[in-house]
Amino acid sequence: MSGILQTVDPATGEPTATYEGWDADRIETAVARAHAASRAWALVPVTERAARADRLAQTLREHKDHLASLAVAEMGKPVGEAEGEVEKSAVTAEYYARQGPGILADERVEIDGAQAWVAYEPAGLVLAVMPWNFPVWQVMRFAIPSLVAGNGVLLKHASNVTGSALALQDLFVAAGFPEHLVTTLVIADTDVPDVTARLIDDDRVAAVTLTGSNRAGAAVGSAAGRAAKKSVLELGGSDAFVVLDDADVEVAAAAAVKARFTNSGQSCVCAKRFIVAASVADAFTAAFVAGVEALRVGDPRERQTQVGPLARDDLRAAIHRQVQESVAAGARLLTGGRPLPGDGFFYQPTVLGDTGPGMPAFDEETFGPLAAIAVARDDEDAVRLANATPYGLGLSIWTADPSRGVALARRITSGAAFVNAIVASDPRLPFGGTKRSGHGRELAAAGIREFTNTRTYWVT
Ligand code: NDP
Repeated sequence: MSGILQTVDPATGEPTATYEGWDADRIETAVARAHAASRAWALVPVTERAARADRLAQTLREHKDHLASLAVAEMGKPVGEAEGEVEKSAVTAEYYARQGPGILADERVEIDGAQAWVAYEPAGLVLAVMPWNFPVWQVMRFAIPSLVAGNGVLLKHASNVTGSALALQDLFVAAGFPEHLVTTLVIADTDVPDVTARLIDDDRVAAVTLTGSNRAGAAVGSAAGRAAKKSVLELGGSDAFVVLDDADVEVAAAAAVKARFTNSGQSCVCAKRFIVAASVADAFTAAFVAGVEALRVGDPRERQTQVGPLARDDLRAAIHRQVQESVAAGARLLTGGRPLPGDGFFYQPTVLGDTGPGMPAFDEETFGPLAAIAVARDDEDAVRLANATPYGLGLSIWTADPSRGVALARRITSGAAFVNAIVASDPRLPFGGTKRSGHGRELAAAGIREFTNTRTYWVT
């Protein structure tokens, strides 16, 4: 076991850092320390745990430049967006600092002849397998509520963002959380399936959460099933962005550009399939393609850049395959469609028209700057197309009549429905998916309670 993890700058393709993967002894020592820290942390009053979250918000802001520059260097997102994810993490820390104790407070239940209540007690040490696309936010979205709930965190971050993973571990200590309570494990990618399966089976690990691909989610979910342990899986998405015949086409098209190309298209809740009513399809497509062609693609360190490189070369190759196979199956290439020449893993922002079921751009998750437009004959057809996916994460509907949008949303399966707004996570609202997009929720009250022991007390 053990091996080398390498970080590559996606803007240049140059290797920038190497890390040695830990051997079994080092992992064992780390798990033992994290377990001891989580047991002690569970005894700390919730108000004190929440106070640390408040300090974390401040610490995140103090380290914003450093964390953002690491994210840019390791996975290539535009610097403004990297700063944005640090700020969003800070806002989430403040949310749980204020709301956490109330959400976790005992709930009395009226029972004749007894005192009864429901308590939300710490689950224990939770393994978090996290992806590279939001190196700070993905970790914080889970870790902040979990820590306020009284748990410890074993972080297995994606192997291409090891610098960020180690910086986050230090950040928690700088914010006043006990040492080892958040422990980053450095595991070479060839060891990841075995090591994570063994950790999930370990009695000291109470539960597991994973954000990432369906392949990784299935591996972690089945290991959790074998060990009879709780798992939360936040997997891919192929979100529909539905434009109805009464929508303001210019407004919808501008929002569509943002919804698809934020984070260079590498977000589970990016809009991916644009399902447009036939009567407005030409106008929407023209405005959307113009917006996409105006995007500034380039060096993610430059502030005016709107679309950076993809995080890895294999991810760029995957997008190119989806484009080529979709065109071969009858999609119309409206703009883009090629890797950008030169260094780095850049891909032209791409729009495909005339897509539908049977094409990879429609059937698969497209994790990069690729938009697929499909024309719907009417509302009925829009519902059919929106549901024609194994995924069920987010949904965005655009219409002059919000009640019509809500009525349509009720017929489309997803974990979140937004009308006249872009899908986004918010600490005040639960976040998660249905169908192959996973199960369980993060954020809000539902998210903090996922990793608690919902405990019944009955006292006479
Ligand atoms: P992965 O799912 O492979 O990576 C996510 C995390 O899971 C990483 O920490 C990874 O570790 C880990 N992992 C991978 N395989 C296993 C396994 N068998 N057991 C336990 N952990 C595992 O995603 P990729 O980076 O390869 O991206 C592929 C696709 O996944 C994307 O194109 C996109 O479609 C989807 N994705 C979705 C995300 C989301 O936000 N829902 C985020 C990222 C990707 P390591 O890095 O060491 O391999």
